[in-house]
Amino acid sequence: MSGSAAEDGHPVCRKCLIADLPRGAELRKILEERLEQIPPEEKVSDEEYRARLRECRRCGQLHEGTCAACGCYVELRAARKAKHCPLTKTS
Ligand code: SF4
Repeated sequence: MSGSAAEDGHPVCRKCLIADLPRGAELRKILEERLEQIPPEEKVSDEEYRARLRECRRCGQLHEGTCAACGCYVELRAARKAKHCPLTKTS
């Protein structure tokens, strides 16, 4: 751990998704609403979604739910068939 912490004492987790952030309740709600708005035919399967997010969790470009390589919220990018990782171009 880097030893850095936010002002409220929570550690800063660079490898977290929005779903994991201790102070992210409002952002999580917005994220869930956006995910619900994606038409089913444009979404990847649940299995593919989880696989994509596993890759993001292992990636050094993930910073509190945002991809530093492209600026997307990875949980939204991962849900869409047409969106791919900017580095691998595959998932
Ligand atoms: S989208 Fe790709 S580059 Fe961005 S955090 Fe996920 S795995 Fe890393």
